[in-house]
Amino acid sequence: MLHSHFSRIFKAFALLILMLPGQSWAAPLSYDLKPQLIAEDTYLLQGRLEDFSRGNGGNIVNTAFIVTRDGVVVFDTGPSFRYGKAMRQAIAQVTDQPVLHVFNSHHHPDHFLGNQAFADGTIWALPDTGRLMAEQGGAFSDNMYRLVGDWMRATEMQLPNRPLQVDRLQVGEHRLRFFPMTGHTGADLVMLDETTGVLFAGDMVFYQRALTTPQTPGLAVWLRDLDAIAAIPHRLLVPGHGPAVPDGSAIGQMGDYLRWLDLTLRSAAERGMSMTELMKIPFDARFAEVALRRHEFIRTVAHLYPRYEEAVFQKQ
Ligand SMILES: [Zn+2]
Repeated sequence: MLHSHFSRIFKAFALLILMLPGQSWAAPLSYDLKPQLIAEDTYLLQGRLEDFSRGNGGNIVNTAFIVTRDGVVVFDTGPSFRYGKAMRQAIAQVTDQPVLHVFNSHHHPDHFLGNQAFADGTIWALPDTGRLMAEQGGAFSDNMYRLVGDWMRATEMQLPNRPLQVDRLQVGEHRLRFFPMTGHTGADLVMLDETTGVLFAGDMVFYQRALTTPQTPGLAVWLRDLDAIAAIPHRLLVPGHGPAVPDGSAIGQMGDYLRWLDLTLRSAAERGMSMTELMKIPFDARFAEVALRRHEFIRTVAHLYPRYEEAVFQKQ
């Protein structure tokens, strides 16, 4: 009787502690990365379909690695030094092989601020990606400190140390091919592992999560690149955000969404709609499963609508 009374009090107390705000002292900042085997020798660390927050530490991104007989290939390194270190630990749980090559898909912070944990290896990126990181990486990093706080502690930008100017590379038994594109940020790397048929699309493809547009050269450019991606023979596609898929559903959804965005912005501009009106328009039901669609649509309108208005103005 007495025991159950104390146990009730204890439970109530424990519950109260859990409900207290600002409980970061109670929760260690752990990314808890779980490598998911998605193809032979190939592992995915899938991020959440969310925006950056203090709850997720910026782990909203997909990173991946391939274990070859000569060493490990890493594709993207995550949003922070802490993530990069956690990724190295996750790799070490799978293999004793050293990390040989790291590839950064593009200069967005969630894809490369983990580089610091791989500074002893070769970090490749497209030359324009390296330039964009040097130009904008500091501001991105500051913003990440604001958005996710303590998770970023000790993170310093580590630029790539090897410009990617080849279109293929053999690592162990894996034949890698590289496709430089521009649709998402002006410099976007897509990598195919010909040995397994896994296509690492970076943020050229988002799936089940709305795409982001702050640096896109334009939706038409992105759509052209997407056609080129669809033409690369592959067995499994790994998007920058969202689940990996063995069929064309991710490219299909992405193309559908990009065309809808382009058409919606163009017709709104032709009708003289204001930016605030446009931000509130209803979504087509077929995008009901796309996470963060309203949030990203509002941002996209802010980024791109002036260009569409300008195009209408030029025609008049
Ligand atoms: Zn991106």
